[in-house]
Amino acid sequence: MPDSVHTDAQSRGARGRYRFREYHVTTVPDPMALPVYKALCVTGEEHNCGAESGTLHDADELTRWIAEHCAQTGHQHYEQTVRAMLRAEPGAWQ
Ligand SMILES: [Zn+2]
Repeated sequence: MPDSVHTDAQSRGARGRYRFREYHVTTVPDPMALPVYKALCVTGEEHNCGAESGTLHDADELTRWIAEHCAQTGHQHYEQTVRAMLRAEPGAWQ
């Protein structure tokens, strides 16, 4: 970088952070952390129903909640959130 001001700004910004091209990272599923499933009922004309399944750790439980909510209300549109935990493992500098 010929522009020294620009370079200073860049190194300030990069301090304490690793850039991906210099840092080899492997992400592995964390066996200690259960995935988290949630469903939100978004059925509705003017506003969504808004019913939430709450936090579930099993995709089958999520399906069951949706099936029950659908049976009770006839609602058919849902937004699903799945959160999976990962662990980053630093590799060798290259
Ligand atoms: Zn609903």
